[in-house]
Amino acid sequence: MEKHLLSKSTFIRGNQCLKSLYLNKHRPFLRDKLDPETLARFKRGHQFGSLAQRLFPGGVDLSPKSYYQYQKAVLTTREAIRTNSYDIIYEAGFQFDRLLIFLDILSRENGNWIAYEVKSSYKISDTFVLDAAFQYYVISNYGLSLKDFFIVYASDKVAYDKLEEYDDLKPLFIQESVLDKILVLQDFIREKVEKQKETLRLDASPVIGIGAHCNSPYPCDFIGHCSKSAIRK
Ligand code: SF4
Repeated sequence: MEKHLLSKSTFIRGNQCLKSLYLNKHRPFLRDKLDPETLARFKRGHQFGSLAQRLFPGGVDLSPKSYYQYQKAVLTTREAIRTNSYDIIYEAGFQFDRLLIFLDILSRENGNWIAYEVKSSYKISDTFVLDAAFQYYVISNYGLSLKDFFIVYASDKVAYDKLEEYDDLKPLFIQESVLDKILVLQDFIREKVEKQKETLRLDASPVIGIGAHCNSPYPCDFIGHCSKSAIRK
């Protein structure tokens, strides 16, 4: 299996800015250092994701053991599904057309596969729906039929600084189906994927100036580089 070109995080990055996508792939050393706020957000997301797994007990974690084992992890997931080895898989890996995703929780319920993506947030944003649509695009084109796709997010009962103290998890999570929303986005995803792949094949980064998009939906980590380039002009 060939190495992937895009993952869900790089797809979201490319949707925000094609220059950021290009730089991330070809000039990663130009990235700004991660600030404490971003590091704290990553840590919180990781903790919240682990907690959500406990809503689906008894599963197997098939996440790759290192960056170099992504494709191997995809093959492991494929085998687990083919042999009906597990009803619940954490970090189920799929690759289609050099697009790679790891789904937070894949659950077989009454003979149907259901996807659950966990977000440490109090509401569902458009970016989360886009992220889910990308994952659905990869999984369905790979050949696995999904009966439904849920985003699992935080209820107003969650205090992020107390994540390690909760025993009763059910009141903490809201599960909302986004299947209808992501089905209508499938052609959009296909077009965006083609555009992003085209961008990655360019000889130089696309010319895109600093603007409101640099902070939406996330602060871009090439702002330092792009700001310097803008000053030099
Ligand atoms: S700082 Fe702005 S223009 Fe530069 S790569 Fe990031 S999003 Fe694109």
